[in-house]
Amino acid sequence: MKLGTPGFIGARLREAREARGLSTVDLERLLGVSRQSISQYELGRQSPQPEVMDRLCEVLRQPRRFFTRPLPLKENSTYYFRSLASATKKARLSASTVAGWVVEMVDILERHVELPQLRMPQFNIPANLYQVSEEDIEDLALEARKFWNLGLGPISDLVLLLENNGVIVSRFPFGSPALDGFSVWVQRQGRPYVVLNDEKLSASRSRFDAAHELGHLLLHGQVETAFHNRSEHHKLLEAQAHHFAGAFLFPRSAFVDEVFECSLTEFMQLKKRWKLSVGMMIMRALHLGCINENDAEMLWRARSKKGWKRREPLDDQIPVETPRLLKRVIEFLLKAKVYQTIEDLLMALPFHRHDIEVLAALPPEVLNPDLPLAPVTPIRPRKVESPTEPSAGHVVPFKR
Ligand SMILES: [Zn+2]
Repeated sequence: MKLGTPGFIGARLREAREARGLSTVDLERLLGVSRQSISQYELGRQSPQPEVMDRLCEVLRQPRRFFTRPLPLKENSTYYFRSLASATKKARLSASTVAGWVVEMVDILERHVELPQLRMPQFNIPANLYQVSEEDIEDLALEARKFWNLGLGPISDLVLLLENNGVIVSRFPFGSPALDGFSVWVQRQGRPYVVLNDEKLSASRSRFDAAHELGHLLLHGQVETAFHNRSEHHKLLEAQAHHFAGAFLFPRSAFVDEVFECSLTEFMQLKKRWKLSVGMMIMRALHLGCINENDAEMLWRARSKKGWKRREPLDDQIPVETPRLLKRVIEFLLKAKVYQTIEDLLMALPFHRHDIEVLAALPPEVLNPDLPLAPVTPIRPRKVESPTEPSAGHVVPFKR
């Protein structure tokens, strides 16, 4: 029995193994097949016997069609990872491989639906990133806000903003809390991706991560891979993306207008409205010169003393922003009967249903063909908050 081209199977086998964070030694143990045979499969020199293939599907939690489908064109993509030093190589490899599955899912889904067009501001960034000053980044963040008509107030849902403007956002557990998120431009789709770690459950932290990745996409999208990969530049790229995130989420003029005093109590008050962490506001105050290094140090210490280093108040109350686009697309394709049944959908998307559920932010078990599909509820876009709209802090004058 022929199981497809050994070359495809080999590459997919390796991909699935890396995505699950397994070594060939792990696979040897789980499969009861020698490491030499596994290498032969992965190199495409030998096809696994059907019974081995079945066990591979089980162990790597993928359907057979996952292994036999053709490989997408290899492209030179630049991934921007934060915490490059502390994140384990294994977790990075696993996360970027799984992100590749999201890209493949979009390849397939895009044949049936039109995804939002890409609307991103274009900046003229000097090739030498050392020429980009902090002042420049403040200005670029404001330009980005202007481009998307965001005004200067809090951004109600950053993930939705990205999705509405053609960025694919996905959130899944990376298997290491040291990785915050990453982003990548996928040339063949002409579309950027932002991938966030689902293990970090603080809404404000996650919002900052998304803004940090947006910073990379806007500031470093044109940077040569070779420049990015040199470790001596890594610190600069990270600092720039960080600065952009702060400036984009909490513009300087709004910060100066709204912050009466740089204290933990004041920042806690502002956290409700801006959905940003107290830690981020300490950094922002320092960047903007509202406080000096010593003041910042005192605030950091006071924050640690309250035990907020691990978890700040409101972290469990502010809802984490969830991607919606892929979920809506899949629900639409089922409702419109483009895929007659869940089985049809699972045939078209060659991944384990659990992976599809996680990567498309679908409710757990919704693609379990043994369970009835929950009725599809219509989805309305949520508006991005504009500064002219009355907010919780708006005072209506009382006329006698
Ligand atoms: Zn980064």
